[in-house]
Parts: sequence; structure tokens; C-alpha cells
Amino acid sequence: MAGKPDLRVVTVRHYDLELDYKPHSARLSGRAVLTAAGDGPFVLDFGPFHIAKVLVNGKPARYTHRAGKLRVQAAVRGEFTVEVRYSGKPQPVHTRHWGDLGWDELTDGAIVASQPFGAPSWFPCVDLVSQKATYRISMTAPSPYTVVCNGVLVDGHVGGSTTTWVYSSTEPMATYLASVQIGQYVEVAPRVFAPARLRRAAAFDFARQPRMIEVFSSLFGPYPFADYSVVITDDELEVPIEAQGLSTFGANHVDGRRGSERLVAHELAHQWFGNSVGIAAWEHIWLNEGFACYAEWLWSEASGGPTAEVMAARARTLLSVLPQDILIGSPAEEHWFDDRVYKRGALTLHALRVELGDDSFFSLLREWTSRHRHGTVTTEDFVSLAGHRDLLNRWLFAPKLP
Ligand SMILES: [Zn+2]
Repeated sequence: MAGKPDLRVVTVRHYDLELDYKPHSARLSGRAVLTAAGDGPFVLDFGPFHIAKVLVNGKPARYTHRAGKLRVQAAVRGEFTVEVRYSGKPQPVHTRHWGDLGWDELTDGAIVASQPFGAPSWFPCVDLVSQKATYRISMTAPSPYTVVCNGVLVDGHVGGSTTTWVYSSTEPMATYLASVQIGQYVEVAPRVFAPARLRRAAAFDFARQPRMIEVFSSLFGPYPFADYSVVITDDELEVPIEAQGLSTFGANHVDGRRGSERLVAHELAHQWFGNSVGIAAWEHIWLNEGFACYAEWLWSEASGGPTAEVMAARARTLLSVLPQDILIGSPAEEHWFDDRVYKRGALTLHALRVELGDDSFFSLLREWTSRHRHGTVTTEDFVSLAGHRDLLNRWLFAPKLP
């Protein structure tokens, strides 16, 4: 990850990625043009690809590339562009706590699952959760494949054996949320893509998603992006993958009985909490996961299932028998994606809702999403907006369950 004090970190404002993927050989080649600002020489995060060329403001630049760092020797100042031409078989980013991240091959296609540090596995970037940029992603793949990326499909053309898909994200996005999904998919409902064998089950399981968007829009404020797409892979996935304007589920999350609707709600809620309102550092992760988990309970309540009160009581029982040794307001790195952060984060919101009453609680959530729309936040930002500091401190910054 970029950000060590001896390295110059620039601010990237726009990523223009022109890529070509061959599923059979798993080779990716492309050209990334980053519009950035800062003073050089500078460093980018980038996996072990073969680099053909690095150009700064259109002129060849000297660089070194090792251990996931692309150091560019160019005396830039202010706004500049850096173009990297590269090719190779994408290699996942190995991490201590979460295994391999980033670009991954499917049995027939590819997925991207970058959270939190996997983005350099497929494009050169400044891989900081605090930085957001706009994107244009053009992906060329063999014609039988469907390519789904973040944002809106703005262009596409069939070149015989290959098809090019061009997506534009005009709302700023963190690198870990940038995504490409490639597979032999059919559109089973508007912007819901699945393998043909799962057509009927997927159409049924996602049929209530438009209603879910209505419910969440009334509780959390307007849906923050131009589009929302869902991909269901032919392979099984351990957990669904959150991306901006896009969620990816495994074949195992579809059963034709809405058995995983809780996860459909969870991933959708991340569009407000995590994607539009992003976090300034990973230690604030409960602001994404606690909110998305609470949204599961709100959907349960809104769709005739157990109320949030019942769901909260169940979660509390579960947590009470687990070790109470982490601070969910600032967990250590190995606990960022600990289920206790999710559940206790949701319980924190439920406690606040009980304290404030529904009207004030939901207007607080709408104020939160509108004030920080497409921005980044910290836990302190939430506590100062919400008030009730003592209550929140007990939930967020003391190990013992209140
Ligand atoms: Zn989540």
C-alpha cells in the first residue's frame, strides 16, 4: 500500500483503463492513463506485470518496478498524466489476514475482489481507501463473454471475435471498489446477470431488489449512483463482493427461495454506506459493515420478517458468548472484517435508534448520507453528528458489551 512517509504519494483524480482480457490464457493487457496531482518523483502500487512503457505527460519516463511498487522518476508539479502500458497474467495480492485479493480467475471468466488491498493486481493506482477518483473502464473480451464494470455502460462494439465494453463512473470511487466481472452471463432481470442455468432462480431471488432500493431510499436518502448491477457467478463464492454500483454473488447465494436475501440487502446497503459515504481509514470499517448489517435487519422488518428489535436481541445473545476484547470503533487490522465488528456495529445503531426514536434516527442517517455523499468519513464525524457521545463511546470504544 502506498503511504509510507519516504514515498511521494500523489492524488489521482481519474483513471482511464483500456484493457483486454483473454480468459483462456488468463492474460490481461492494457493501458492505464491516470490524471493526477502532486510533486514527483512519485510511487504507484502495481502488481508484477510486464511494463512496456511509462509516459509522464506524454514523454517516456524512467521507472523502477519491484515488490508491488512502481517508482516513477519524473519531476512533476501540479496536475499531470501518467500512462502505463502493461501485460501479463494478473497475480493476486497476498495478505496476512485475508488471503489472496484482487483479480481472480473463475472456471470460465474472471472476477475482481479487492477489499481491502487488491486493486494493484489489475491496474496501477494509489491504493488508499481515503482517495476517490472517477473512472472510465474499457474492457475487450471474447464475444461470448459479458463484461460488467462499475458505472454506466456508455459504449460498446463487437469486433467479430471480441467485444469491447466501455463503462463510465462519474461519481468518485475508491480503488478497492473498482471492479470487472467477466463471464458467460445472461441478463435475467434489468442489470442482473447470471449464468443461463441459474436464470429462473436468480430472477426470483433478486425480484424484490427494486423494492429494497425504494425502502432504503426512503430510510437512507436517494440511491447515490446512476446504476446498480448484480452479477451471479457460475462458481461458488465464500462471501458476496461489494463494489461501487455493482455487487457480485456466488452460485451458492442463489437457491430460488430467497435464502440469501439478507445478503442482497447487505450488499445493496453498501452503496450508501461504504461506497458513497466512504471511510478515510480502514479502522472506521464499522461505518460500512455495522450499517450494512443493520440494513439487513431493516429489510427484514420492512419485508414482514422479524423486526430489527428481534434481530438485535439475537445478535446480542450471539455476541455475549464471544470474547469481548476488541474495540469496534478502532479495531486492529486483523479484526477489520471480524463478524463482531459487523454485529456490534449494527447493535450500536439499534441502541442509538432506541435512544433517539425513529424520526430523529432516520433523519440522522439521511443527514449523514447527504452531508458526506461521495466523500470520506471517520468515526468521530459520526459521533459529532449524532451526539449521545457517552452511549456511542460505550458501544464503540469499550471492549465490554453494554
Ligand atoms: Zn459488508
